Amino acid sequence: MYQYTEVKEKGLLNAGTLGIKRYVLSLDNHVSIVEALTAFCKEKDIYAGKISGLGAVNSATFRFLDPATLKYVDKTFEEQMEITNLTGNISQKDGKPYLHLHITASRRDYTCIGGHLLDARINGACELFVEDYWDTAVGRYQDPETGLNLYKF
Ligand code: FE
Repeated sequence: MYQYTEVKEKGLLNAGTLGIKRYVLSLDNHVSIVEALTAFCKEKDIYAGKISGLGAVNSATFRFLDPATLKYVDKTFEEQMEITNLTGNISQKDGKPYLHLHITASRRDYTCIGGHLLDARINGACELFVEDYWDTAVGRYQDPETGLNLYKF
């Protein structure tokens, strides 16, 4: 589903001492970004952190939360797109890693679409950096006013 390496820190202090572990990941072709990242977070016990990356997909589903109705509107785009930016964070909800991902993707005509990413399927490659804030607790709670799962510290 993925290959990875841990970033080595030089000097007397290592990444663990600093509270951050860093990884470079390559997701396998045709996998779901959310499935692969969730599996990686579970494997490495990552419950707080940061994600950034790029790649190419041939299907992506975006989610828009309408603040007036607090209803989600999902839309899937089935076409080849470059991930010009994938950015996200990792927290913990109900004892599991919780991913919050946003994406900008460019189409064949070089225009971009983007938004909150529900999931996407790799078609080509996906190269990611993941930071694990291993000694930091970041939870989530359901906020009734916004309908969002907000940070809980
Ligand atoms: Fe979002």
